[in-house]
Amino acid sequence: MGLFGRRKTVFVDADILVIGGGMAGCGATYESRYWGRDLKIVCVEKANIERSGAVAQGLYAINCYMGMQWGENQPEDHVRYARNDLMGLVREDLGYDIARHVDSTVHKLEEWGLPIMRDPKTGRYQREGKWQIMIHGESYKPIVAEAARKAATEVYNRIMVTHLLMDAKQANRVAGAVGFNVRTGDFHVFRAKAVIVCAGGASHIFKPRSVGEGMGRTWYAPWSSASAYALPIQVGAKMTQMENRIVLTRFKDGYGPVGAYFLHLKTYTQNGYGEEYEKRWYEDTKALVGDYIDRHPVPTCLRNHAILREVAAGRGPIRMVTKEAFQDPHKETVGWENFLGMTIGQAVVWASQNIDPKHINPELTTSEPYVMGSHATCSGAWASGPEDYAPAEYQWGYNRMMTVDGLFGAGDTIGGTAHKFSSGSFTEGRIAGKAAVKYVKDMKNGQPQVSEQEYRDLEKLIYQPLENYRIGRNEIVAGTVSPSYLLPIHGLQRLEKIMDEYVGGISTNYMTNGVLLERGLELLAMLKEDMSHMGAEDLHSLQRTWELHHRLLASESVTHHTLFREETRWPGYYYRGDHMKLDDENWHCFTLSRYDRNTGKWEMEKAPVYHIVD
Ligand SMILES: Cc1cc2nc3c(=O)[nH]c(=O)nc-3n(C[C@H](O)[C@H](O)[C@H](O)COP(=O)(O)OP(=O)(O)OC[C@H]3O[C@@H](n4cnc5c(N)ncnc54)[C@H](O)[C@@H]3O)c2cc1C
Repeated sequence: MGLFGRRKTVFVDADILVIGGGMAGCGATYESRYWGRDLKIVCVEKANIERSGAVAQGLYAINCYMGMQWGENQPEDHVRYARNDLMGLVREDLGYDIARHVDSTVHKLEEWGLPIMRDPKTGRYQREGKWQIMIHGESYKPIVAEAARKAATEVYNRIMVTHLLMDAKQANRVAGAVGFNVRTGDFHVFRAKAVIVCAGGASHIFKPRSVGEGMGRTWYAPWSSASAYALPIQVGAKMTQMENRIVLTRFKDGYGPVGAYFLHLKTYTQNGYGEEYEKRWYEDTKALVGDYIDRHPVPTCLRNHAILREVAAGRGPIRMVTKEAFQDPHKETVGWENFLGMTIGQAVVWASQNIDPKHINPELTTSEPYVMGSHATCSGAWASGPEDYAPAEYQWGYNRMMTVDGLFGAGDTIGGTAHKFSSGSFTEGRIAGKAAVKYVKDMKNGQPQVSEQEYRDLEKLIYQPLENYRIGRNEIVAGTVSPSYLLPIHGLQRLEKIMDEYVGGISTNYMTNGVLLERGLELLAMLKEDMSHMGAEDLHSLQRTWELHHRLLASESVTHHTLFREETRWPGYYYRGDHMKLDDENWHCFTLSRYDRNTGKWEMEKAPVYHIVD
């Protein structure tokens, strides 16, 4: 124990442990308290819930609101929309479940102080598009966090959770989690009856377009480090649709969002010569995906596809035509404010590059791929569905429980349910929280047991990189390259390069094939071997090290899934060069994986897609 003698071990007992206090985590914490008045509800967050997660900077729109009170949309409409956008493959039971509850979440947010814009004529919420409503959302996250703070028994900020703990007595049952305080270094052991993972999506898996001094400027939050996937994967939870990474068309260099521009400002795109180009690629796309190209709205991936083809044909760059809309002072204001409350970096990039969108049509580009379950893709854990709506095959207990007992998830964590966004993620957190309370209450005295051996072994493993650095550092007199250890930034860049070149990143124009994927897996395995030689010079580097572990495991999962699905289901997100067409006959299904931490092996299988909504 000498090595860790100065470090405290902090034990926390909880009924429900919520990991990650972003949108879903705050929803889970809030709702757990509503149903579990007498329970101990603990939320643990690696940053500070006040400003953490993908909504940290604020948002300008809530992208998932039905408007049922005004008869605008019904939950079934949203299921059809998400299914269409995902080229037919969504968990309709889970999507429906969110859609039927999401309006009540939005009404709560307004009650708690979130300013939602209203249409002066109708008095209804101001629509940006069919599903989006506009907000003054700079303080969106603090408002949501306040509700979670008041609901939680305790919130632990600045704790990076690295591993889940399993029940010593009953196989396949979760028992808690461990992590460390990124400021003090204290080791935390959380013992819990139910755990809800809400740890966000994954950026920096693929090499980003912004490198060097700009590498922190990615579209998805740079601190979304794949814990949402790695934590369940490590303990053998089944994952689904991990191949379904997302590529975003965004303003170049700042990743500024385009939704308000297209939907509210009614801007449109042109190629470098000022021509319309989407129609030109209609036949080409139809040959790949059949009549999915005729669906309305055109699936997001297929719009990317037209951009990629047009640029590859030598007619780039693609530009957003803003010059017309920006002549209207109201639209000009909306255009700028859209960034100021959400992606201020885009405004700074334009200022620094002499781009005034009133006079210059700004460039768009496609981003590097991200892995996430709440936006226009649906990677994540395979979860049990709602009792009243899910087909029997999708139900094995409690709503949003994964294939590990007592382990729940929400938001980016849960797979198969695209287009939840901020409001849907909070709503799914609420659904998971309610189900977790039921799980805990049903458990009575059979609570899980944590093994001291397990968490002490993990403690040693977690802090080892500090020790590797302390000893290895003596072998070099300057610089960062050591014969004995690998720094997290080196490992991260190696991971991003492998994923980029072998698994369909920007440098191959999102193209991969079976041969590349097999080689990618070999290189990922070599990186995994080297992970025991990570060196961390301080607690910050230690956090980076564990983020890298999580990103690496999620990347392995993405690669296995991409290899397994022998078709190109989402052209514009990625291409299997050896299976260039969508193949509904063989692949109108979900892909599932399960990782065995004892053998390091992955098992893949297919699961049926049930179309519940006509
Ligand atoms: C640029 C951008 C623009 C967007 N625009 C919109 C929009 O206009 N409208 C809209 O409705 N939605 C929008 N979204 C989507 C929305 O932000 C997400 O859908 C939502 O935040 C997902 O919720 P979540 O709880 O799953 O993840 P997050 O909100 O990201 O929360 C995850 C939390 O987990 C924490 N965490 C991660 N790892 C660990 C760990 N190991 N231990 C402890 N804590 C951990 C993180 O710090 C974070 O607080 C946007 C997202 C981005 C990135």
